[in-house]
Amino acid sequence: MLLRPRPLFILKRFLQISLLLLSVFLVGEGLWGNQFAPASLTTQFVWVHYRGLLIFSLLLLGNLFCFACPFVFVRDLLRLFVSPKFLFPQKLRNKWTAILLFSLILFFYEAFALWSSPYQTALLMAGFFAAALIIDGLFKQASFCKYVCPVGHFNFLTSALSPGEVKIKSESICADCKTLDCLKGNEERRGCELNLFLPKKSGNFDCTFCMDCVDACPSGNIELSRVLPGQTLETEIYRSGIGKIETRKDFQFAILTFFFLGFLNAFMMTAPAQNFRAFVHPFFPNELLLIAITFLFFALVLPFLFFYFPAKLMKQSASDSIVALLPLGVGLWSAHYSFHFLTGLLAFTPLLGINLSTKWMGLSPSQAVPVEMGLLFLGALISFFLLWKKQKKTLMKYYSLALFITLTAFCFWILLQPMQMRSTFVGVMP
Ligand code: SF4
Ligand code: SF4
Repeated sequence: MLLRPRPLFILKRFLQISLLLLSVFLVGEGLWGNQFAPASLTTQFVWVHYRGLLIFSLLLLGNLFCFACPFVFVRDLLRLFVSPKFLFPQKLRNKWTAILLFSLILFFYEAFALWSSPYQTALLMAGFFAAALIIDGLFKQASFCKYVCPVGHFNFLTSALSPGEVKIKSESICADCKTLDCLKGNEERRGCELNLFLPKKSGNFDCTFCMDCVDACPSGNIELSRVLPGQTLETEIYRSGIGKIETRKDFQFAILTFFFLGFLNAFMMTAPAQNFRAFVHPFFPNELLLIAITFLFFALVLPFLFFYFPAKLMKQSASDSIVALLPLGVGLWSAHYSFHFLTGLLAFTPLLGINLSTKWMGLSPSQAVPVEMGLLFLGALISFFLLWKKQKKTLMKYYSLALFITLTAFCFWILLQPMQMRSTFVGVMP
């Protein structure tokens, strides 16, 4: 068979190799370079620029960082020499591992001030490469991406609000298809390693934007389509490779931890949180234990208290309200990351020997506020719309409405607080 040209594949490899080289440089710089965080490209690029670019690419197009992921390139190299023998264990084929790792990274970030340690940041990056290699060296398909990777986990959830989605063009072409290459692959091209069957795929959950299906479909029936952000959450549907997110406990808990730990992550950088820590310190000097208790409170107690307990009292389901909460969580993470990204936009330039004539390193905090507010407002708007559409007209609906108004108000309050300018010279310089 004559192979079709693969421009997407070439672009993907180019981006993967570029990011791999950058990652190797940043790991080296973090391990052996300057250990003062604002003077380190490792801490700046990882905690300010990478996270900012990640969120903007997700909101403006789609899961571009998974598309360009360097771990996948290294995994593909490894598989030229080692063929994995096992399927990922059945009991772990869910989101619990990714939720745990996602929560642990946020905990370590706060407890060990990862943003201020180039060395620990480099170790974290190296740990990611090692974990991806071990898991994908042992298990078939894209097990690391689908079940383990905490960054992918964040991207999958956030991409519910992306305006781009990999979709089929025509249902009738798929109805006549005998080969199902988009899923199974063929001799030359691999199919979807995330087990998403395109005619039954809906939304971006679990999609790494790898475009393997686009390459594999013999009819050229798959494209990157424009979709309305959040629309995929509107109806309860069966999704290929996933099922119904409304009936999956792990998906619900993924959304709750995404929101409440996002809330905590932003709150910990504010002046009130710093004042609270200073106030509590004389009575509770063990900082690590205090942070651990706070994380458990936000990850476990608050979701139970605000969602599961009231639902049980009312003998109704909280699942529609939980799904509707996701856009508010995306709005909060986006507002938070955009603040650091926009205020520290050019803070790395002195480290590259580029001396800008002015001291302008990015927007001032007050200039970044409208962007933050706008992103949070959009997320909240979609959440309220989904809540209204999804939740049946029961007591739970009106309770959830009051809860969403309160949570949204707290999110706005957090963003209006003075924030620590972590990882950059901004705030360090007079
Ligand atoms: S997307 Fe392509 S390979 Fe998949 S079922 Fe449709 S026509 Fe077949
Ligand atoms: S659906 Fe297509 S783009 Fe998405 S993960 Fe599967 S193969 Fe990759």
